[in-house]
Amino acid sequence: MKKIKCLLLLVLLLPAAVGFSQSKDSLIVAAIIKEANENSQLEKLGHELIDGIGPRLTGTPQMKQAHDWAVAKYGSWGIEARNEKWGEWRGWERGVTHIDMVYPRVKSLEGMQLAWSPGTGGKTITAETIILADVADSLAFQQWLPAVKGKFVMISMCQPTGRPDYNWEEFGLKESVEKMKKERTAQTEAWRKRISKTGLTNKDLARALEKAGAVGIVASNWSSGFGVNKIFGANTTKIPTVDIALEDYGLLYRLTESGSKPKISVRADSKELGMAPTFNTVAEIKGTEKPGEYVMLSAHFDSWDGATGATDNGTGTLVMMEAMRILKKLYPNPKRTILVGHWGSEEQGLNGSRAFVEDHPEIVSNIQALFNQDNGTGRVVNMAGQGFLHAYDYLGRWLARVPSSIRGNIETRFPGSPGGGGSDYASFVAAGVPAFSLSSNSWLYGSYTWHTNRDTYDKIVFDDVRSNAILTAILIYMACEDPEKTSREKAVLPVSPRTGEPGRWPEKRSPTRKGGVD
Ligand SMILES: [Zn+2]
Repeated sequence: MKKIKCLLLLVLLLPAAVGFSQSKDSLIVAAIIKEANENSQLEKLGHELIDGIGPRLTGTPQMKQAHDWAVAKYGSWGIEARNEKWGEWRGWERGVTHIDMVYPRVKSLEGMQLAWSPGTGGKTITAETIILADVADSLAFQQWLPAVKGKFVMISMCQPTGRPDYNWEEFGLKESVEKMKKERTAQTEAWRKRISKTGLTNKDLARALEKAGAVGIVASNWSSGFGVNKIFGANTTKIPTVDIALEDYGLLYRLTESGSKPKISVRADSKELGMAPTFNTVAEIKGTEKPGEYVMLSAHFDSWDGATGATDNGTGTLVMMEAMRILKKLYPNPKRTILVGHWGSEEQGLNGSRAFVEDHPEIVSNIQALFNQDNGTGRVVNMAGQGFLHAYDYLGRWLARVPSSIRGNIETRFPGSPGGGGSDYASFVAAGVPAFSLSSNSWLYGSYTWHTNRDTYDKIVFDDVRSNAILTAILIYMACEDPEKTSREKAVLPVSPRTGEPGRWPEKRSPTRKGGVD
């Protein structure tokens, strides 16, 4: 309260010749930048969430812990916050994974069980490895299947190189690079065929191996960078599925293939916790003049659990929390209501945000604008009108207030297209809400941190995240203050070169409210 009074006083003391709202805007914008730069809470919030609580896989106790942490954090800033339950998910908790090669020599291997993997029941299982056979057809596969009994089955291809392409392209001879790529493409295609010749989908294959008495499944989902694998969910229901890093997987594969009969010991602990409720954390700063109109901040809160979800979407979460903190401090009586949504279960199909759209039609029909961030730690470099015909008018007005050092990096496209279903803005765009994606520059997000075992605190580029918090706070402030309500008129979408038909607006989709069981 005190701070805004000071600010208002300053505004009132300005010479009357200066346009009132222009100067008020300039003052608030300057104050936002100063607060973000001189009193940043990003590092502290990042440490508490990403190091302290860790990954936020849907259905885990850590996800719930994160929701509670956010509510308490908002409370400490005087912001009203709540956890809204919207569904339930298979509850599971990750324990330790230890994987060692114990024959023909001893080496601890880098690997971990996949999300929702069954454990080894408190035991360490030691067994030989076997590679998924290259069979002629599904019948031959069924005949081969008994061979997996009592063994760990390796179901991934052995990558020919652990060096990312950019490394080859920098140092390799042109002909070597081309040869490597050609061979790898052929090998990848052959492996795809090897799987398809079993006649089974990935999921059914895992279940068939389990049924045939395999003691575990070993996979390696390389993410095309040094030391990175992607860690998704297990398909098995009784035996563990582990991912082993490219280097160690290659070692094990080559030894198995050459007939050395390697053995590995695996201990995987995990707990099944029945069904667990799923939430969105929603916090708000009530509007004074138009409390029934909303300006929204948006970022999914859940993550995969190969690492700690630092850039997917720890950083988007930090941007929104820091912007809220700053706005509450400097702009506690906004014209419109400021709402932030920290969504659950984005990774399983935008479930939290879709549920919010479904459950709150009264809010959804009165959202002035929404800003979502979810593609890594980088500074925002792209924004589009998301297919809204007049987005240029209002986004243009708001962006004009963003300092050129930040705005200058942003390429804009108007009216743009509604975009795919890549993140939670899409749940709102589908409902006709002017919802925009704050799109970051890459920092090699796709290969190095997105859903990988390396998505950790050290990958955060705090200067970029700070810049995004400033951008978001200014856009939210401007959207709140804008005398006009934003238009929702949709642009005619361009004809698709593929179908020859005009592009279609995405349809509203219902969330999965009960998930992770089948
Ligand atoms: Zn994400």
